[in-house]
Amino acid sequence: MPYLIPFLIIVLVLFVAVILFRTFTFGDAQQKFEPLQVFAPNPDRVAERLSKVIQCQTIAFDETTPVEPQKLKELRSVLEKNFPHLHKTCEKQLINDGSLLFTWKGKNEALDPILFAGHQDVVPVDGQDLTKWTHAPFDGTIADGYLWGRGALDMKNQVVAVLESVERLIESGFQPNRTVYLALGHDEEIGGTRGAAKIVEWLKHNNIRLEAVIDEGGMIISGLLPGIDTPFATVGIAEKGMATINLQLEMAPGHSSAPPHHTAIGIMAQAITKLENHPMPAEPEIMLPLMRAVGKSLPFVLRMAFANLWLFKGLVINTLRKNPQGDAAIRTTTAVTLIKGGIKDNILPPNANATVNFRIKPGECLADILQHIRDTIQDERIQLVPNEDILWDASPVSDTESTPYAVLKETIQKVFDNVPVASQIFPAATDSRYYYAVCKNVYRFMPLHISKDAMKGIHGIDERISVEALEKMVQFFGALIQAYDGMRNKS
Ligand SMILES: [Zn+2]
Repeated sequence: MPYLIPFLIIVLVLFVAVILFRTFTFGDAQQKFEPLQVFAPNPDRVAERLSKVIQCQTIAFDETTPVEPQKLKELRSVLEKNFPHLHKTCEKQLINDGSLLFTWKGKNEALDPILFAGHQDVVPVDGQDLTKWTHAPFDGTIADGYLWGRGALDMKNQVVAVLESVERLIESGFQPNRTVYLALGHDEEIGGTRGAAKIVEWLKHNNIRLEAVIDEGGMIISGLLPGIDTPFATVGIAEKGMATINLQLEMAPGHSSAPPHHTAIGIMAQAITKLENHPMPAEPEIMLPLMRAVGKSLPFVLRMAFANLWLFKGLVINTLRKNPQGDAAIRTTTAVTLIKGGIKDNILPPNANATVNFRIKPGECLADILQHIRDTIQDERIQLVPNEDILWDASPVSDTESTPYAVLKETIQKVFDNVPVASQIFPAATDSRYYYAVCKNVYRFMPLHISKDAMKGIHGIDERISVEALEKMVQFFGALIQAYDGMRNKS
């Protein structure tokens, strides 16, 4: 008994020592690189070209209203006029009457090609929002150092930056060893089945395996997550799947003067509340690569928590839950997006329907979601009907130990001032998921330093990109094409 207290003190000291040791050794060692600039800057030229591309109204409304063929044709002729060297040097194919596949033939056929993916389509601008834009969304206005318009961030900027980098490389006399494909889908915003899926079909049909695919996705962001002020780059190595499930309830109609305690609408409202209060399970380990990458600059408490997830897992989950982006990063999300019910003010509603959209993290599937809903709402009166048209699993997870990933990471650090680079599960859907059929190194990255605030322009109002940042994207793609060209096969 006299030894108990000293023993407990020793245990406590050891316990604290382990936590502190893990905290202070947490985080990746960052290699530093000399800055790299491939081309003499020419921001006005690339801005001018993006402006013309934005003026082509290649709007994809929904599955039944894809981009008008005439608008795509217009865009093709704008590209032809603005990227003459590229059109002279690369072979151009029109796939499924809308998508474009440029082939820049490499000298060494033994090297597997790389592919830069993009999409020509943009989302519509809500008519009511039109007056809220500082500059009309399809004028392609260049003002105050910015290029304004729909597609300036998603993702005509990246399409034009890749094309411009190829144009400049050709102008400078560069000839690739490794074949480079530029693949521009035309229906990414409405699912990619007409565009990217057909491009991949063509690649498969021609027995083409790709060494790496680069598509839109992660960016370089400051202030995205609470407590992390230093900018960091994220590369999407997988993307979430999607399931839309309709909750349907039918009840006998009747006069509203003698109602039951809960009408169909009330019962549905309770089910919705339960679903919102009981999200799918969280897996904070998903964020470890990001936390390790920025580890050294994390605030102490956050660093300690992630370094000791075995102890602070609950705290981390609760903290991330307060931030929508943080919460979406670690679990399958639940969003109730539509509700319908009732027919008249004095009739008991014969039905109530709610639509819930789930973004599925890798490792979970539709069956898990249905089970979760049943367990949570505990109400057999409510039927669960998945929408078969809006249903796909999370993508495979790309390799972060591969040479193409290392080269991508190094190029990001060289062009963007040695910013920490981390892999992430991309929360939204992109065309990238189709490319796993022909490639295992599919990376989602937009070389753009952007604030959390400016990101609101994506699918929102006043979408814009700074001309300086656009030029930097061109520099990045020039550097990456050359770096991939010097890379040995195979990863
Ligand atoms: Zn996009």
